[in-house]
Amino acid sequence: MDKNAPLTRLAIFGSPVKHSLSPRIHQLFAKQAGIPVDYKGIEVSADFLSREVQKLADTGGCGCNITLPLKNRAFTLANGASERATAAQAANTLIFKTPNRWFADNTDGPGLVRDLVENLAIDIHGQRICVIGAGGAAAGIVYDLLTQKPAGLTVFNRTVERAKGLVERFRALNDEAVSLYAAGLDDMRAAASFDLVLNTTSTGHFREAPVLTENLFAPHTVCYDLSYGAAHVALNDWCRVREFRCHDGLGMLVEQAAESFFLWTGFRPDTAPVINTLRN
Ligand code: NDP
Repeated sequence: MDKNAPLTRLAIFGSPVKHSLSPRIHQLFAKQAGIPVDYKGIEVSADFLSREVQKLADTGGCGCNITLPLKNRAFTLANGASERATAAQAANTLIFKTPNRWFADNTDGPGLVRDLVENLAIDIHGQRICVIGAGGAAAGIVYDLLTQKPAGLTVFNRTVERAKGLVERFRALNDEAVSLYAAGLDDMRAAASFDLVLNTTSTGHFREAPVLTENLFAPHTVCYDLSYGAAHVALNDWCRVREFRCHDGLGMLVEQAAESFFLWTGFRPDTAPVINTLRN
């Protein structure tokens, strides 16, 4: 550790943040980078987000993460944004260019793609992808999934209007002409199988698997659950009894954090040992 290096001040804002693994992950990255990092979890409501982020920026902060339910709000606070954050209308990362100039990015998409492609060797290119859920997490990943040029992407959501809105937002950016569809949960039973099924719903937090039908799965189909830990158990059980391959979202969590760390510090962490530490 370079004791003379200036302290890198960071934080994650959200509600709740008490159980967030991000402070621990970023301390492990800091150790690898050999720089002192102070990364705090700060509980805040939407009304006070701007004030709290400003406090961090004014006291030498480099940037911050934003989690549920503040990602949309965080996007609106920035003076500039990446194309992916603009498409998602949501930011999980703010980079302070100066104390009063904040750049918004969303590292959920790159984090997911890196976990799928690099860590799990799961192909996206040319594949038929199904996304269950159309909330903030889904909005954050569609841009990067499309850049991998899948054959098609279908969003199923309980509230079908939300799925339609999401797909319409990304249609304009879809210059690779990926087939994009939005559907309600009632349409699921009539669908053909997919190569990759991504669960982005929050049902796991209520110990429930999302609504899924077996026709979505061919023998080779991989299910990837963005949830991890206790929130992953119900879907994992649903897949296990049917002998479907299923992964949790812990790798994505570490990868999106690594991408944020890189944006703030220029250092790209080695994620494998961090994922292993958290799993054990
Ligand atoms: P949101 O609240 O924005 O969206 C929740 C989604 O779940 C909506 O599509 C909602 O449908 C759907 N949903 C909720 N309850 C039900 C239900 N009973 N039946 C069917 N659908 C339901 O949450 P986020 O998108 O921000 O987060 C979703 C999950 O992704 C969380 O578990 C979160 O932890 C995880 N996540 C993981 C990350 C990682 O790095 N691994 C990163 C980001 C998120 P509707 O629109 O109809 O309400």
